[in-house]
Amino acid sequence: MVASYDVVILGAGSGGYACALRAAQLGLSVAMVEKDKIGGTCLHRGCIPTKALLHAAEVADAARNGSQLGVHVTVDKIDLAGIQDYAASVVNRIHSGLTGLVKAGDIAVVSGEGRLVSVDGKLAVRVADEDYVGDYLVLASGSFPRTLPGVEVDGDRVINSDHALKLGQLPSSAIVLGGGVIGVEFASAWRSLGVEVTVVEAMPHLVPTEDPAIGTALERAFRRRRIGIRTGVAVHSCQASGDAATVRLADGSELSDELVLMAVGRGPYTEGLGYAEAGVRLRRGFVDTDERLRASVPTTYALGDLVAGPQLAHRGFAHGIFVAEEIGHLTGRLSAAPLPVKDSDIPRVSYCDPEIATVGLSEEAARAAYGEVETLTYDLAGNGRSRILKTAGFVKLIRRSSGPVVGIHMIGSRVSELIGEAQLINGWEAHPSDVAPYVHPHPTQNEALGEAHLALAGKPLHSHG
Ligand code: NAD
Repeated sequence: MVASYDVVILGAGSGGYACALRAAQLGLSVAMVEKDKIGGTCLHRGCIPTKALLHAAEVADAARNGSQLGVHVTVDKIDLAGIQDYAASVVNRIHSGLTGLVKAGDIAVVSGEGRLVSVDGKLAVRVADEDYVGDYLVLASGSFPRTLPGVEVDGDRVINSDHALKLGQLPSSAIVLGGGVIGVEFASAWRSLGVEVTVVEAMPHLVPTEDPAIGTALERAFRRRRIGIRTGVAVHSCQASGDAATVRLADGSELSDELVLMAVGRGPYTEGLGYAEAGVRLRRGFVDTDERLRASVPTTYALGDLVAGPQLAHRGFAHGIFVAEEIGHLTGRLSAAPLPVKDSDIPRVSYCDPEIATVGLSEEAARAAYGEVETLTYDLAGNGRSRILKTAGFVKLIRRSSGPVVGIHMIGSRVSELIGEAQLINGWEAHPSDVAPYVHPHPTQNEALGEAHLALAGKPLHSHG
């Protein structure tokens, strides 16, 4: 059987469902194919359950450290099943809200494994023996956790982030392979819940895609929390045996612990879905698109983690909305063409303790792009609210010489909440003197952002500029 729609979307993760909702708002008929649950990795195996785990970890630390503030509490028990139930309740509430939105949008949700096929010269998504033909096709199949060559992820001693969210019990010790975002978030949560953790990262610093000042500060904070760190050394192999897993490093040394978490990146899910056979050009596994997210075959788009760039749920949402509006424009439903999503403007947040929130260019990238730059680092020690929270950290600004701010890099408890203002400053290409007159409420951590701009504009208050 053949069913026809204006738009057929393969995958109902952040990118796919955002595209479906916006397309439906624009009056397009939409079918969305999903083999699992609406919400994808972000909702069911990623952002939401991991942040719930990290929140529980934060509560454990707050209780444990209460005596420093005169509040004496003892942590009697870490009940992993209880934490998982709490995370599941958050996920389920969001999932039911999302299912309601999709239903209200009159979006046809097709349950099953989809594959790209050609039907009478038109591309379609085949599910079982039904073909869903779309005037426009949107590939949104997302990504999967990668492993290292020769390393078997058995889900028991050697696990990935999917398994890590479903552990029957916490290990007493664990090695985290990869000091990127997933690695540092799990290392942080597990340490707070009482696990002895060591993180191994091949690059010279943790979170190596960030400005090195951030990685250095995170390493200092992690060491204080007694998280083991091995940077600048790659993992060669990993072997599970009996009740332990052993990791061999490139320098010949070995580490052995109860559990190993593979957090060495995520790969685009493009194999076995008929993409290459349908003529969709892939590059290093990603769908090759132009800046308007057009794949190499007509009327076909790709979005989110399928497109090389930062693999972030909010980039997926933005891609989904963009593609829906592009189709809306091409079909005469929107008068103006939407602006493409710029990777350089996408904010990044890691919810480890301390948190990391950044947007724009690192100092090195800014120098490469613009030559002369000026930087300013405002220490959170000068910020009252940060003192109350007992957090160390900083706000680092990078501006083009006498020009706009092109990078904002923050580390410290709760700095995730400062990223909204930071992204507007970066996105609107504000000069420090544009930001300086805005009065920031006292005592908030936002003041640190305000004071950093005051200092870079040449009029520091609680800092030396
Ligand atoms: P990543 O690419 O961020 O980090 C993987 C790390 O593993 C890299 O730093 C890399 O140098 C290291 N590595 C690779 N091979 C290695 C080896 N042989 N030995 C030692 N280290 C090695 O990937 P990730 O942390 O797995 O996360 C996947 C994606 O999910 C990322 O794009 C991330 O941004 C996204 N994510 C985002 C959030 C968030 O926004 N808070 C949370 C989780 C995941």
